[in-house]
Amino acid sequence: MIWPGGKTFAFSIFDDTDLAVPGNVEDVYEILGSLGLRTTKSVWPICAPGQPPRGPEGSTCEDPEYLRFVLDLQRAGFEIGYHNSSHSGVGRGDVIRALDRFRELFGHDPDCMSNHLVNPEAIYWGPDRLSYPLRALYTAFRSRRPIAYRGGHVPESPHFWGDICQQRIRYVRNFVFADIQTQLACPAMPYFDPMRPMVRAWFTSTYASSWPDFERVMSEANQDRLEASGGLCILYTHFGHRFHDRATGRAQPRFAELMRHLARKNGWFVPVRELLDYVVSQQGVARLDWRGRQALEWRWFYQKLTKSITE
Ligand SMILES: [Zn+2]
Repeated sequence: MIWPGGKTFAFSIFDDTDLAVPGNVEDVYEILGSLGLRTTKSVWPICAPGQPPRGPEGSTCEDPEYLRFVLDLQRAGFEIGYHNSSHSGVGRGDVIRALDRFRELFGHDPDCMSNHLVNPEAIYWGPDRLSYPLRALYTAFRSRRPIAYRGGHVPESPHFWGDICQQRIRYVRNFVFADIQTQLACPAMPYFDPMRPMVRAWFTSTYASSWPDFERVMSEANQDRLEASGGLCILYTHFGHRFHDRATGRAQPRFAELMRHLARKNGWFVPVRELLDYVVSQQGVARLDWRGRQALEWRWFYQKLTKSITE
């Protein structure tokens, strides 16, 4: 792909907000910001009933100190994304309240979102990510840890909000893969899946759940390979998960080293929305057909069994 401004490749990060609280992610963003690496940080706009604004799962935007930090990030050019309403399930009314609150805080609806692993309002999630025959295999595979019913896209569910997702959210993350070149596993992304029509466009990501995975995926050798490929990477990670070195109270020193290596390259470093908009302007939103869907689902399932892909 030809990237804007004569850039050689494109790179972004979608930071899943799990575990992020004041004190464990600011350093990471200070490093990214100082190097001109603008990325996407997701949030939970509200607390589910009975939930504290700050807890072991992380902070929501009802935590004033955390909210100040997130608003500062937005002012500094980072994108704020959506990670469902909160870290446990809410019904349709609260999903609408969360999206309205997001708009009030950040000035517009979320452009990008990802499902939180355990939320019953997650959209096309759990076995519903998959089609025949993998859906049955996946259900068997997960039978020791059964997944609660996912209702975001099911009109009869109290958690249904698929119609609202379709109206208010542009890009939803689905399958994740191990390679730094995100499009290797799905060159057509972002794509529309007619079997899952309440999402306007799905995007895939490169998965690095926590700091050790990030360190491995973002090694200098892999960065160099990404650069040589001329492709793109949307890295999906949790900056709240072990990026903060408890011994020093600061971000892992190796994180700054890796990010400096990246920033020295002729890369296009933009938030996820900007990157996806550009890809869409170049190749449109592909419509997934049966063959493409099967290939994507099997590729993901195979990597889930063989690599450290936990989502
Ligand atoms: Zn999450």
